Amino acid sequence: MTIDEKAPVVEAVLTYLYNFNYETGMLITSRPPPMVFHAQVYAMAEMYGIQSLKTYSKEKFETTIATGWNLEAFPSSITEVFSTTPETDRGLRDPVIKVCCENSKALVADDGFKVILREAPGFAAEFAEVLAGGDTVVVKECLLTVYECPDCGREWHGNLNENPDLPSSLCPYCQIEYDNEDWARYTRRNKKR
Ligand SMILES: [Zn+2]
Repeated sequence: MTIDEKAPVVEAVLTYLYNFNYETGMLITSRPPPMVFHAQVYAMAEMYGIQSLKTYSKEKFETTIATGWNLEAFPSSITEVFSTTPETDRGLRDPVIKVCCENSKALVADDGFKVILREAPGFAAEFAEVLAGGDTVVVKECLLTVYECPDCGREWHGNLNENPDLPSSLCPYCQIEYDNEDWARYTRRNKKR
């Protein structure tokens, strides 16, 4: 990052230290898109050892990419994450891989995404591993369907149709029961496609 690019990130870190939050549109106007910005704040929080800010920016980042994976800025945010965090730091890498996996069909057809498949350091390898069905938590979550409970609003991962004798399923959080046919309509992945 240049000094100009760094200034808003430093500003966000300082704001966080005083207020325990930061906004993506504060005083300085030359900011990258929010998802790139959150990744930059995360990297700087790591540099200064501010664990709570890492958690905070991670949550912001996850929320932003969950709905914004189809925005033009998404590929840049992947490059940001994969060039500023080590492979061992899964904080932003796992959410990126998960979102890419959930939306892989749309993404691999996207020109911007194709560029970062070639250019973001180590990204293609991690993405390929997940698509090939490696044995990690992210892979399991990607291979299962994501349901959004209409009652409690929480998301859970699973497959409904494994046992035809059980035509209904419970939300693991609030225990509400719906027919599997109804659950199929509360699929988060289906909603996006
Ligand atoms: Zn529920």
